[in-house]
Amino acid sequence: MTDTCDILISGGGIAGLTAAAAFGTAGFKVICVDPTPPVTDGAAQGADLRSTAMLQPARVLLERAGLWDTLAPFAAPLQVMRIIDSGGAEAEPRVTREFDASEISDAPFGWNFPNWLLRREILARLAQLENVDFRAGISTTQLFTRTNTAKVTLSDGTRVQTQLVIAADGRTSPMRAASGIGIHTQRYGQKALVFAVTHPIPHENVSTEIHRTGGPFTLVPLPDHNGLPCSAVVWMDDGRLAQERLEMDASAFEEAASLRSCHHFGPLTLVSHRQAWPIITQHAERLSAERVALIAEAAHVMPPIGAQGLNMSLNDIATLLDLAQDRSEGLGDAAMLEAYHKARYGDITLRVRGIDLLNRASQASSTLARDARAAGLNALYGAPPVRKMLMQMGLGMR
Ligand SMILES: Cc1cc2nc3c(=O)[nH]c(=O)nc-3n(C[C@H](O)[C@H](O)[C@H](O)COP(=O)(O)OP(=O)(O)OC[C@H]3O[C@@H](n4cnc5c(N)ncnc54)[C@H](O)[C@@H]3O)c2cc1C
Repeated sequence: MTDTCDILISGGGIAGLTAAAAFGTAGFKVICVDPTPPVTDGAAQGADLRSTAMLQPARVLLERAGLWDTLAPFAAPLQVMRIIDSGGAEAEPRVTREFDASEISDAPFGWNFPNWLLRREILARLAQLENVDFRAGISTTQLFTRTNTAKVTLSDGTRVQTQLVIAADGRTSPMRAASGIGIHTQRYGQKALVFAVTHPIPHENVSTEIHRTGGPFTLVPLPDHNGLPCSAVVWMDDGRLAQERLEMDASAFEEAASLRSCHHFGPLTLVSHRQAWPIITQHAERLSAERVALIAEAAHVMPPIGAQGLNMSLNDIATLLDLAQDRSEGLGDAAMLEAYHKARYGDITLRVRGIDLLNRASQASSTLARDARAAGLNALYGAPPVRKMLMQMGLGMR
């Protein structure tokens, strides 16, 4: 059997699903496939317990995809980003600096959402779009391209003829491999533990990043849980230590996490499972091949610092959507895909390098390197034009 569509999206993670909503809302006929049925309940086995801070510029794409109005009631705004260096002899704050969104804009830096909830709401949006066909439990298996079309074979034997294949199939992207695009990968031996906690001291819409050794400990605001202030935590550290903490009993883990948080919000109470994510930096050598565009983790992976990952993916989608809408003909042709590569590649490599440097600074274990990090934070913060520029760069406004 052969199906036809304008765009085949390989991968229904948050990036692939958002792309399906964006291109579907714009009127394209879309098929999106993913072998793993999405889990849309935070308490269910296999739920993605990460949260995503959608930065200010992401809102425009979410509106274009018909998603913002349904997501807005669940948003936890991020007004202030607090960075704490606790790299001294004791696990206590020695430098604390706050970056306030009001210095650069009337809106917050962004809005935080649990990933399982994003999946639930995006799927609900796709169900409203007759021109979008989301097939869970199905993967892409083969790719064959010609100058004017692509044919993709699916795991159920279906063939799909399409103008454009969007590879949103993650860091080991099978469609990227089938296109012959290489990757550059950097490993750190680090893992990120993700979980949610409640705490007695309110977060007041402040996202707090605490640096000591091994990587940052970040608390990102979530809406209250059972009437208590709640945060999503990403705790990056050496992979072996992270694994040990994953296996600790809950009360020992809460004690270790509270200590690592410098008791900033008081004692932390675990209110979710824990998950471990390996940390790498990776980028593709090119963002396109014949009839194929790479987006999201198929194109770039980086440590979860500064909420860049999915936000860059949304920029990939917005750029592709602009290019697709600018052309009445030529969807997925060589000129469009070259323009996509040129528009995104510089920004991606710059951000990947920047986050790699920040991660290395945060991993620092020697006293000298930790002191240099604290001094660096002070120096960057102390110069208002630099501070504003960093905030704008972080949001992707520069
Ligand atoms: C701990 C952590 C915290 C993070 N926090 C943030 C944050 O606050 N803000 C932010 O912007 N980013 C954040 N990120 C990054 C963000 O989560 C990722 O960029 C985003 O989830 C990646 O989405 P993706 O859709 O590219 O990849 P994935 O979620 O990996 O999705 C890829 C999908 O492709 C599917 N697939 C695989 N093979 C095939 C095939 N052959 N055919 C079809 N489908 C296939 C898989 O089943 C999967 O569902 C974080 C990352 C981590 C690790």
